Formats: sequence, C-alpha cells, structure tokens
Amino acid sequence: EKERSLNFLEHIIEEDIREGFPKDNLRFRFPPEPNGYLHIGHASSICLNFGLGQEYNAPVNLRFDDTNPAKEEQEYVDAIKRDVEWLGYKWDTECYASDYFQQLYNWAVELIKNGKAYVDSQTSEEIAAQKGTPTKAGEESPYRNRSVEENLELFERMRKGEFESGTHVLRAKIDMASSNMLMRDPIMYRILHKKHHRTNNDWPIYPMYDWTHGESDYIEGVSHSFCTLEFAMHRELYEWFLDNVYENGRVKPKQREFARRNLSHTVVSKRKLLQLVKEGVVNGWDDPRMPTISGLRRRGYTAESIRNFAKTIGIAKRENLIDVSLLEFHVREDLNKKAPRVMAVLDPVKVVITNYPEDQEEWLDAENNPEDESAGHRKVPFSREIYIEREDFREEANRKFFRLKLGGEVRLKNAYIIKAEDCVKDSEGHITEIHCTYDPLSKSGSGTEESMRKVKGTLHWVSVKHAIEAEVRIYDRLFTDPEPDAHKDRDFMEFVNPDSLEVSKGYLEPSLKDAGVEERYQFQRIGYFCVDKDSEPGKLVFNKTVGLRDTWAK
Ligand code: ATP
Ligand code: MG
Ligand code: MG
Repeated sequence: EKERSLNFLEHIIEEDIREGFPKDNLRFRFPPEPNGYLHIGHASSICLNFGLGQEYNAPVNLRFDDTNPAKEEQEYVDAIKRDVEWLGYKWDTECYASDYFQQLYNWAVELIKNGKAYVDSQTSEEIAAQKGTPTKAGEESPYRNRSVEENLELFERMRKGEFESGTHVLRAKIDMASSNMLMRDPIMYRILHKKHHRTNNDWPIYPMYDWTHGESDYIEGVSHSFCTLEFAMHRELYEWFLDNVYENGRVKPKQREFARRNLSHTVVSKRKLLQLVKEGVVNGWDDPRMPTISGLRRRGYTAESIRNFAKTIGIAKRENLIDVSLLEFHVREDLNKKAPRVMAVLDPVKVVITNYPEDQEEWLDAENNPEDESAGHRKVPFSREIYIEREDFREEANRKFFRLKLGGEVRLKNAYIIKAEDCVKDSEGHITEIHCTYDPLSKSGSGTEESMRKVKGTLHWVSVKHAIEAEVRIYDRLFTDPEPDAHKDRDFMEFVNPDSLEVSKGYLEPSLKDAGVEERYQFQRIGYFCVDKDSEPGKLVFNKTVGLRDTWAK
C-alpha cells in the first residue's frame, strides 16, 4: 500500500507495528538542549521527528534537555520555540527535563535502596584515573561498597546543598570491567551550585544526560527516541537505566541512532557557533552568514526550502558532508516560484537617453512573476536618465557580448530598445555617462512591429530620479575551507573568511519603497534578496540570499 520507500528508522517503526506495537502509542520528540540557537543540522532532526509525527498521525513533544544550568538560558528556549514554529511544525507538548528533577531524584533513591547506585566521594580526577581503557578493566572506587544507609544519607545531604560543588557524585553501580566504558559506573548526579533558568536555586545537584534522557522519554511516553550516532554506545546505558525504573504495561522507549548532518563551509555545533558570536566574527546568532535557522531566515531562506533540503538529504547511517550548494539550490528553486521580480542596480552607471524629452516620464507595465500569473503586474517609471549596471556596458566588445556596447542595441526590460551612441569619461578615463537613443516604437508589450524586434540582450535598469537608495549586504561563505572543523592540527577559527560580508549601495525601483522586513524579491538578473530587520523607514537594508545561478563551482 505504501509506495514511497521507507528510511531505516521508518522500517524500525513498521517492524514494531507488525510485531504488535499499538499505533496509537507512537510518540516522538525533538529534544534540544537550550544552550544555543538551532542550526541546519537540527533542521534534519526536526524534520525527521515532526515528519514522523505527521506520517503516523502521532504526537511529537518539544523537550528541552535542560540539565546543565552552566550553559542554558531562557533566551535559547524562546529562540528554539520560535524556530521550530517558523519551520512549520507544531509540537504536542512543551516539556522540560527540569520538570522531572523530583521524579528522577525519587528514582535515584530507589536505585540506591536496591544497591544499584552509590555516592562516590573521590575527586573527578581520581574517578577518571580509575576508568581503565577499552582493553583494560577499570578499578573499583573505594566508596563503591558503602552501605545503603550511608548512601541514602549522603545523597540526601547532597540534595539539601550541604556539600561544595564537585565533592561527591552519585554513580550507578554497574560493571567496572564492562567492555562498554560508559557502563563503568557512570555518574548520575553531580553537585553544582548554579542557578537554573527554570528551577532557580531549588537544586544543588543536577542529573547527567544519560540518566535524564531515557527517563524523560519514559515519563512522556515517547515510543521512539531518535538521536545522533554519537549516542550509539550510550544505548546500553539508556536501556539499563530504563530497566531499573520500568513498570509493566507502560511504553518502553526505544533509542535508535542516525547520522549527524554536516554542511560544507560552515560549522554545525552550538559551541562553535557561540564562539563566533562571542568573538564578534558575526553579528549575533541570526547573522545572515550563520547556518542557524534564524540566520538562514534572516538571509531570506524560506521554511519550505529548508524542509525540502532536509527531506532531500534524508536520513543516513553514516556521517558525510553535504555541500552548501544543495541548500542554495533549494532556496533558489522555492524563491523562483514565490519571489516577485523587481529591478535594482547595484553598481550603477548613468545612461542618458538623448532623444527622450527631459520633462517626460511614463509608468510602464511590468509582470511581477512570470512563474506565477496570480502575482499580477506593477508599474515602473521610465525617464530620460536611467542607471544600468556598469558591467553591462563596454565601449568595444566582441560578438559574444550580448549587452550594451557603442553602436549596439539592447532592450531595456519592460521598456524600449536603446542604442549606445557615445560615452563620457572623467579625467581618469572612468566612464561617467553613456549617451543613448531610444526607439519610441519599440515599447515592450505595445504590439508594434518594433516592439517585437529581436535584439540580443535585455538589461535591467532604474530611472535615476525615481530610484530609491538602499543598503545591500552581500555575503560570501563564512569559512574558506569546506570542512573548517575537520583539521586535526588547525583550529576552525583559522579558516574564517575575512571577506564574508560586503556592504554596498543599490538603486531600486520605487515599488520597493514600502517593502517589509523579511519580504523576498528577485532582483532581476542578479539574485534573490530579502529585507533585513535593520531597515528603517526611508532606509531599506537588503540581504542577498543567493545568486540566480551557482557561481561557486567556477
Ligand atoms: P550541538 O553540537 O550543535 O550542540 P547537539 O546534538 O548537542 O548539537 P542538541 O540540542 O542536543 O544539540 O540537539 C537536539 C537534537 O538534534 C538531538 O537529537 C541531536 O542529535 C539532533 N542534532 C543535533 N545536531 C544535528 C546534526 N548536525 N544533524 C542531525 N541531527 C542533529
Ligand atoms: Mg545534545
Ligand atoms: Mg551539545
């Protein structure tokens, strides 16, 4: 019945259903730690989990994995919610691991009572030194065989805040000789006198990730807990912890792993992105050069283009590097359908149409989007003086140059055919003006024979006296290396591209005067642009999202 091919995680779910797992019990979650903004790697996990929710008509929780107050903040919680919503997904329940602190504590007490956990009073260095190696068993802590009573008392005092940070930990009592190093009496709690963004100073002890994650899944009734490959070795511990709290009849969550997605010419790690922000390499988490969801959004990416990208790359079992040009392909494809066309000149040279009356102007008809008839038409003003792009004119050029050259003709988009007659230069030989004549009968769409006349080139332009000036921010890759953080002997910061931002001025047709923040346009013949939040009335700022064609490969 299902025709589309399933990915390996969907096969796992299908198999569970075939073996009798009730479909109604399916539940997924997306579990970010609020220690930074979401990035394009997270988009894969979001699209996977929420996509499964849609496919199986199952709820998906948004769970904040907030167990480390040293790095987490409310600002990040808010940003994550905003970004998931903007991507177009709705969570069933907004959950916080910190809401389970009491339950986790109660379970930890049970583990102690059952002889499955103990308080270790060694320093972290001592504990680390006893870990052993994958081929050599670890050493047991001298505190490993403390009595249940002593453990209960110490753990209670840890919880009451009687001890300094780092003086005791609670460890699971598993197996110091396990071939899986993570099973060698992993730490469940540490003492940390640090204010938490939600629980304030209620807790001087904080549960570790491994102890928290599976139990949170269990509490919420998550059936399938999909995480990235680095947790594959943790699965054994995930299951050990679950087995110790599990009550019959409840859903037992299943952890499975998929490969992290990496994008070329950037870094997808909140820690590294935070460093870029802190060191001022970029102007905040939503800087349009950042691979964050909010940065991509500000750059002009649509949610649909990011979802399409995530769907196209799909889910894999092995890590690889996805070329950023694939992401750009998807935004180009989406904006081609959606973005209204406008004319803007970014590097202007003035054209004077000598046979066009000085006091005349006319408003010409222009189609908003040839890909979308419903987008309608607008009027653009034409007058005796216009700007064209400097690179669209040459005094002399060979026959392959289909733009304007002396003695040659081009069509002005939505307007007339002009012929270059002469040009004016300053004392340094720099062209300051091009003098042209126009063919009054050649107006686009006028139906005359001249209007149908084929000339090789069509140029975009704006009327000088009607043009509005805007700031235009043009971006290049943030890193010069395709994998800046994959070099063993060099730090990723060494590969920051010093020229990733170019600020220039553009001249736009006046229809853009009231363009609102985040509106996206195609500047014809140049690329896609989006109104930046730094815009003010009368002072527009545009971000270049992407060029019309992939120019990176050349
Ligand atoms: P980071 O290094 O950026 O902090 P993380 O894995 O620590 O990444 P979390 O907030 O824990 O970040 O991630 C939430 C979910 O998103 C997790 O299930 C995680 O596995 C997944 N995820 C994070 N990064 C990627 C990525 N690059 N590709 C796919 N999934 C990812
Ligand atoms: Mg994590
Ligand atoms: Mg992390």
